[in-house]
Formats: sequence, structure tokens, C-alpha cells
Amino acid sequence: MSCYRCGEHQETRPYGPGGALVCVWCATSTAKDESATRAAFGARLTNAPQVLTEAGPQAMPQNLTRPGRN
Ligand SMILES: [Zn+2]
Repeated sequence: MSCYRCGEHQETRPYGPGGALVCVWCATSTAKDESATRAAFGARLTNAPQVLTEAGPQAMPQNLTRPGRN
């Protein structure tokens, strides 16, 4: 999936507005962009379902929450 802003880079993360896929260059190109990216990353961690492991509560891997992807 390509970046929603530049459309050039294929390695993206869902930290754009509304979960839009964004590349690291667009996500950190200005201080304002980086701040928004950090907030989106933190929100995803806070809202992520957790599982209890030997190391304590951990964010549940997203690839284990959908049928047929384990
Ligand atoms: Zn980009």
C-alpha cells in the first residue's frame, strides 16, 4: 500500500489521519507531522486489545485477531 500523501513509498504505517497509511518521510517531515504521528501511535497502543503474557500485559498482535491469518 502506498503512502496517502506522496504515493511513492510502499513501506507505510497506519499513523495518518483516520488511520491512513503514511511513509516515515511524510510522517516526520515537519515537527507538526511528527507530533501528529506520535499521537496516532500512542492512541493505537492505548486502544489496542491486550493479552497477558509471562512478561506482563502486552498489546495483542493484530495478525492474530483475524480468522485465517494465524
Ligand atoms: Zn509519503
